[in-house]
Amino acid sequence: MKCWICGKDASGVCKFCGRAICKEHAKEMPFILAVYDHDEDIPKAIAVSNGLWCGICKPQPSPIEMPEID
Ligand SMILES: [Zn+2]
Ligand SMILES: [Zn+2]
Repeated sequence: MKCWICGKDASGVCKFCGRAICKEHAKEMPFILAVYDHDEDIPKAIAVSNGLWCGICKPQPSPIEMPEID
């Protein structure tokens, strides 16, 4: 795979949009792995603070509501 921006060999893939990205152009962005709210009132999210991000796409800072999949 080649970097979306410069066309060099990519070293990873953006966690948010799937674009391939090289080390030079990769950025980091908190990435929510899962959101759950078991018995408690406060929903909790499992997140990594340095998910690989291409810098091009615009990830939402928090999970967006998806009432259609309820
Ligand atoms: Zn690049
Ligand atoms: Zn991206």
